[in-house]
Amino acid sequence: MKPPSTVRLTPGKRVLFLTKDPELIRKQLRGEIDLQMKDLRVEDLLDDINTDAMTPAWVCFDHRPEDLSRNAYAGLIVDGKRLFEQDALRNGNFEVIVSGYRKGVGSSRETATQAEVWSGIKIAVAASFAPIHAGNDINQGLLMANHEMLIRLQAGESIPLEEFTRGYDPITQLVIKEGGLFPFAKALERGEIDLPVPTTQKRPMTMGEKILARHMRGGGKYVKPGDALVVDVDGGYTHEFTTAQIHYFLQQEYGSDYKIKNPQKFAVFEDHLIYADDVARMRPFLDKINALRQLQRDFQEHTGCRDFSATDNISPGICHEVAREYIVDPGDFIQATDSHTCMGGVNNAMAWGVGTTEYANLVHSGFTMVEVSESIRFELVGHLKENVTAKDVMLHILLHYAKPQMTLDRIIEFTGPGVRSLSLDERATLANMATECSARTAIVEADEKTFEWIAAMRPGVDVDALRKRTVSPDPGAEYAGGVHVIDLSKIRPMVAHPGNPDHGIPSDPTNGALVEEIGDVKIDIAYAGSCTAGKVDDLLFYHQVAKEAVDAGLKVADGVTFFIQFGSQAVEQFCRENGLIDTFERAGAIVLNPGCGACIGCGPGVSESGEQVTISAINRNYKGRSGPGKLWLASPLTVAASAFTGHITAYTPGMFALVHA
Ligand code: SF4
Repeated sequence: MKPPSTVRLTPGKRVLFLTKDPELIRKQLRGEIDLQMKDLRVEDLLDDINTDAMTPAWVCFDHRPEDLSRNAYAGLIVDGKRLFEQDALRNGNFEVIVSGYRKGVGSSRETATQAEVWSGIKIAVAASFAPIHAGNDINQGLLMANHEMLIRLQAGESIPLEEFTRGYDPITQLVIKEGGLFPFAKALERGEIDLPVPTTQKRPMTMGEKILARHMRGGGKYVKPGDALVVDVDGGYTHEFTTAQIHYFLQQEYGSDYKIKNPQKFAVFEDHLIYADDVARMRPFLDKINALRQLQRDFQEHTGCRDFSATDNISPGICHEVAREYIVDPGDFIQATDSHTCMGGVNNAMAWGVGTTEYANLVHSGFTMVEVSESIRFELVGHLKENVTAKDVMLHILLHYAKPQMTLDRIIEFTGPGVRSLSLDERATLANMATECSARTAIVEADEKTFEWIAAMRPGVDVDALRKRTVSPDPGAEYAGGVHVIDLSKIRPMVAHPGNPDHGIPSDPTNGALVEEIGDVKIDIAYAGSCTAGKVDDLLFYHQVAKEAVDAGLKVADGVTFFIQFGSQAVEQFCRENGLIDTFERAGAIVLNPGCGACIGCGPGVSESGEQVTISAINRNYKGRSGPGKLWLASPLTVAASAFTGHITAYTPGMFALVHA
């Protein structure tokens, strides 16, 4: 529905403040109090509300927004209990919801927005929004405002719609005014909207700007930050968590005989829920999970898109790992329904995650709308020490650059001799964790190693054609976020700690600390896998440590379970052919088939109680993400070393031989 030209609060409707004090939230939900923004400070409000808290994975088993919204905010847990019981948001008669900084960080799931919209929320108020989440709000017709505007609304003022569209590019303003992406697309189809054409003159460009300029419709050759563009999309993918909703939306909007453009450029994956049948917590949802699987098969058959379904319940691998192996080319513009789509940037492509509405729209039309983001560049120099990996580099960047919001909504570019010293798998870790930085995406500069890696994965590929598609930054290109030199030789093993979520310190990937600073932290689980840490080089890191331990006569520490999970079947095959699996088994580790598993709380390796401590190589430690326990993030080397010592330990070459000497 189109929003009115002036916006005011509806008499009788309420405003919900997500305060750091959980009791205040409870009182609002029970209808005992109504708060005023003028009596509160932004610091009183919850920051970093992540999409897992808004709609935890199990809530997304319902693909119809009207169903899943009944469990809005089911992931906000205090003292082991849901803060929002079923229907609490819907029954509260709220039309505005208010929080602090960085609303909607984490997974790109659009269900987080849908849960609010289908509960009656018309305006989301926050000091800042994570970029993908903000895009989802816009696409679903949810207005966004700041606290200042809320004070005026609560004082009875009517605010012109232009204030809600201010600061957005001209195309996004049109989407907001139409009430969301589908109404906008239909108005466009009916010829009711004239799209602005960018007129940017010749200028030096960053890698991201170059890729967008190449894909732009309308004849221009140059772009700059803030330009609104219509761009062709080279390819994309969905997985069984998201495909059903896309099928549902397309049927609703365009009828049951809808078509998609270029089906061979788009794919479906079965990876996220591959272990669901074996997880006790998932048993109540198996009917819904099977429905999601079936709807994905229906979508694939209906559209004829590429099929990466499981065979005999074995997944081909995690979508992002398989996509970089077989789908993403240098210079591509890729869109997929998952926040770690940015991992495709390792192949010198531009890739980011989008919500289901945006994806449904772009597979239907073949193009999408983007605003050119600013860029930030990390010029890597030097070489990593032998006990440090790209994961430590990202934990360093998360702490020193993402926490102070320098990477927020920017395109991260990785360049320099330090990048060239890293393997493609290590570079993939850099690109993968751009989303934890709340960045738009990341792009890694290509070199011969890039083409060699792609050619090894795709025999017969035309390497010259790939080489011609690569982009490098122009001399003089502008980086609003700055160019930052990082000396790899100075990085030391790091962790991200789980914070203290019950007291307002969220478990967050930006909670960086040096391993040597954290004292003695005993662990119960070591998890080695995921898209960011299930690549061949990650498995080689785990193996390096495990081999030293086995050679020293050690096994996984008493009381610790060590899970190792492959990122794809190609990774598994490499490990099998090179004897890695034998070492893992001799060490006492549990080796798992490819898939997302514990990373999404849906497979072996999740914690079972709040007291359990996990050291994990995955990319995010949001509360509840991988069970109720405390989740520490670390590098593959640190995870493996900790599995054998029983407490969080940075790896030192020869450490077990020394212990045993
Ligand atoms: S491994 Fe984890 S982070 Fe990666 S795609 Fe799967 S659920 Fe997402």
